[in-house]
Amino acid sequence: MQLDAAIGALAGWGEPAYRRAQVRTAVTRDLVASWDGVSTLSKTLRARLQNTVPFADLVSEDTQRSSDGTVKSRFRTHDGFPLETVLMQHGERRTVCVSSQSGCALACAFCATGSMGLGRNLNAGEIFEQLLWAAREAKKDGARISNVVLMGMGEPFHNYDEVLGFCRLANDADGYGLGARSIAISTAGWIPGIDRLAKEPIQVKLAVSLHGPNDEIRGSLMPVNRRYPVAEVMEACQRYRDETRRRIFIEYLLLEGVNDAPDQANELSSLLHRTAPGGFHVNLIVYNPTGSDYRASGPDAIGLFKGILERRGIDHSLRQSRGRDIDAACGQLTVRGVRERRAELRRARSS
Ligand code: SF4
Repeated sequence: MQLDAAIGALAGWGEPAYRRAQVRTAVTRDLVASWDGVSTLSKTLRARLQNTVPFADLVSEDTQRSSDGTVKSRFRTHDGFPLETVLMQHGERRTVCVSSQSGCALACAFCATGSMGLGRNLNAGEIFEQLLWAAREAKKDGARISNVVLMGMGEPFHNYDEVLGFCRLANDADGYGLGARSIAISTAGWIPGIDRLAKEPIQVKLAVSLHGPNDEIRGSLMPVNRRYPVAEVMEACQRYRDETRRRIFIEYLLLEGVNDAPDQANELSSLLHRTAPGGFHVNLIVYNPTGSDYRASGPDAIGLFKGILERRGIDHSLRQSRGRDIDAACGQLTVRGVRERRAELRRARSS
């Protein structure tokens, strides 16, 4: 959905400002699903828009619904790149996890997306369209999107300008009108992006995926650690804190026998205290297996880990994985789709 292109086309045709406002309202508030749905425009104008700016850039190929209310959709861009979006439900709240890239170049060992490599960056309109899809889904329950996390496929800071463009659209009163603090950008620790975001006027949240308290563990999970090791990521977090005074969210996926021991909880606590006391909130994440060799930590290990953070005064919360009965982990649905397509091609070749 290239909303700005549609608004620009209307302006170019000499349509008055109120027409442009009608289109914005129809797309971002009424959540119409096609130009035909913009009933305030004449049929001729709707047809003209349809011929000039396609309403949708993404085609939904597969949608799965979990018993816990999670909805996940696999999309394809107009030029054939797959991506996915997940809508999660927590009580009254609706959080959408959007992708910023098709695939990802960072190849984290536990991540299905990482096994695909990078397809291409998504533009701001393609990211915004994921939010609109989720908003239409939420509307079926009479709900509205309360949070957006850029935690789907891709490293957001490898696509900085489009990601920030999306954040402005999501936040803008003429866009979706979501509070900036309800938008979180999650990075694997790409330092140039952290430093750039610190200077932005928009007050979105920053989340940094750590997943290990030292280079040995983090490096075994995240190849990006070779480029930006733990100490340098922490220095960047410190600079970000100094500049913004905002709290940083640390993402920590608990993996059985890898990073979930009491020693590692203590090491993580010391690291965060040393860097910026009180400056972090740790999101402990229960792993949703993606077909990798890793397993989710058990309840005892999770309880011990949490208890240590508690005693050490580290603000934290435990995020239960959603959609365990569907392919809701990052990249799972898309990777399955890619595998199925390859199998189809193989079958077609051999028949
Ligand atoms: S976890 Fe994120 S950064 Fe790592 S490979 Fe997956 S999508 Fe990329």
